[in-house]
Amino acid sequence: MKINCADFRVSPGKKLELRKWPTRVEPVYKSKKAYAKLLQAQVEELSSLQRLHYAYNRYAVLLIFQAMDAAGKDGAIRHVMSGVNPQGCQVYSFKHPSATELDHDFLWRTTQALPERGRIGIFNRSYYEEVLVVRVHPEILRTQGLPDRLLDEKTVWKERYRSIVDLENHLHRNGTRIVKFFLHLSQEEQRKRFLDRIDEPEKNWKFSLADIEERKCWKRYMQAYETCLGATSTRTAPWYVVPADDKENARLIIAQVIVDTFKALDMHYPETGAGRRRELLAIRRELVREGPGGR
Ligand code: ATP
Ligand code: MG
Repeated sequence: MKINCADFRVSPGKKLELRKWPTRVEPVYKSKKAYAKLLQAQVEELSSLQRLHYAYNRYAVLLIFQAMDAAGKDGAIRHVMSGVNPQGCQVYSFKHPSATELDHDFLWRTTQALPERGRIGIFNRSYYEEVLVVRVHPEILRTQGLPDRLLDEKTVWKERYRSIVDLENHLHRNGTRIVKFFLHLSQEEQRKRFLDRIDEPEKNWKFSLADIEERKCWKRYMQAYETCLGATSTRTAPWYVVPADDKENARLIIAQVIVDTFKALDMHYPETGAGRRRELLAIRRELVREGPGGR
């Protein structure tokens, strides 16, 4: 399997044209069986890297997922993280903010959910909604309780990008590694998946009327994503535009980016010093002396 993660990474400081980014690429797997094998290998690698990450306990890793409805965020999280110890991983799904959350700055609610050292935090949607759904529906901005003079659309989005980039730089300086995935779905593939959700009774629950309303704003969402990804992809917290029309291929790409991110951290298991080793050996002797019957 050859996945070059850099192919999907958004270069910092450059304008981005989303239409030039594919929603489908040549898959890295040849058959469904081959896919399952490849994913399994990645999941196992990720599992052992997470154990090391947990033991090393210096970095925190934050994975952010953003996408249009039905792009496969949930499935990607479920499959890619399937081998990871639940104790070392927290997933947060951010929906419409509560009244309490709206009484604070827009980074407040997610800040409280940031991962601890040694952990993986997953944001299924995130503070990026504040420059995506809120930008597409500026009326939401006006319900956020901000002072009138901060509502100028000529400045507000740029200022929010700046706040986000500042926050992410700050987190990086304090040992959090952030990776951001935009699951790039075509409008046609979304149409097919919505039809599936309607046609298959077991998938009906996944479909909401709100989804169809948001679909009508597709163009504006793409514009919002385009400016957002261009303005907030940095060396320290890069965005990856993952072609998402093929769910399986998207999962393999995402898993590879996460594996590579962990590998770049150059972690090691805490070393056992000579004193500690002596201590352990003394305990060991005692346990052996005790014999199988206990004391
Ligand atoms: P799924 O549909 O797969 O269950 P979802 O993430 O789409 O997951 P929904 O409950 O369908 O969850 O939708 C959540 C909605 O909340 C989305 O439309 C999203 O844009 C919206 N949302 C998230 N954060 C904010 C925010 N800060 N301000 C306004 N709306 C937000
Ligand atoms: Mg939804």
